[in-house]
Amino acid sequence: MTTTRPAPCVALLSEVLDMQYLSDTFRAACPGIDLRLGADLGRLADIDAAVCWFPPHGLLAQLPNLKLVQSLAAGVDHVLADPELPLEVPLCRIVDPTMAAGMKAYVCWAVVQQQRGMRAYVASAAASKWEEQPFANPRRHRVGIAGLGNLGLACAQALSTIGYAVRGWSRSAKADLPDGVSGFHGSAQLDEFLSGCDTLVCLLPLTEKTRGFLNADRFARLPRGGHLINVGRGDHLVEADLLAALASGQLAAATLDTFSREPLPPEHPFWGDPRILVTPHIATRTDHGVIAEQTLANLASLQQGQRPLNQVDLGRGY
Ligand code: NAP
Repeated sequence: MTTTRPAPCVALLSEVLDMQYLSDTFRAACPGIDLRLGADLGRLADIDAAVCWFPPHGLLAQLPNLKLVQSLAAGVDHVLADPELPLEVPLCRIVDPTMAAGMKAYVCWAVVQQQRGMRAYVASAAASKWEEQPFANPRRHRVGIAGLGNLGLACAQALSTIGYAVRGWSRSAKADLPDGVSGFHGSAQLDEFLSGCDTLVCLLPLTEKTRGFLNADRFARLPRGGHLINVGRGDHLVEADLLAALASGQLAAATLDTFSREPLPPEHPFWGDPRILVTPHIATRTDHGVIAEQTLANLASLQQGQRPLNQVDLGRGY
């Protein structure tokens, strides 16, 4: 005899986002779903899964029948920041080719706009001036990607395809890197990696080991006049060290998508600095349908005693 399981109860939790934006997608993906969001979550014992972006601290620990914590993003630092996170409940993140495609497009754009002087062309066009910037062969421009995971690897491959000399750095050694991409790993190979990065892209997860990774010591190891692209998290960057490296000429430019404080406050020195290009945490986005699909599939797997997709290793923190 088969028993039909009641429709799942899913809470959408965030202290900084109005999670209402996901409700239609979840209802379309699972008619009859019991969705909980906002200030009144009803009977907490009903909740099977929590979809999170900066969930209120302590709330997940109050859900006695929680089976899944699902980050709505690739990163999980915003969930792990909860000091009362129930560690026995599986925590999963989104891994999705569309998200990787968005990141590839952003990182290629960020590299190209600086390396080919595209901002100067925008200024020339605005002044009706036919003016060429010096040409530099991309093969002689070395782009280093710190973090060769799902997103970093996709960016490495894309940059290599459009002609750049690409290297990547990860925690563990990588076999089978795409053609044209050289790999470095661990702290022993970090200096060698950095010494060959004309552009450094940060695509690390934010963990206790990577917080403050982009600091004065690391900038000093880059070739002089480099370009920093931070699409990881704001707390990877020591902001004062970036301003000092730009002032000394050690770095020539920075393209920043993530910040310790978001939205970046209007009085922040990054705004209006001609060497810094700020974008508002838009490098890539998670498709709403993918969040619903992966959450519901992970919950179903757990209810059937199977492993969910893209479960985070809490020991490593990513
Ligand atoms: P991932 O698949 O988990 O990859 C993480 C990579 O970082 C792996 O290569 C890992 O090494 C490496 N790594 C971790 N800790 C390290 C350490 N201590 N030293 C050296 N390497 C280390 O993550 P992902 O899906 O590519 O996402 C990366 C990050 O991008 C997310 O965590 C998030 O913060 C950020 N992100 C930003 C946006 C945006 O719009 N700006 C959007 C999505 C994601 P191993 O391969 O050896 O494990």
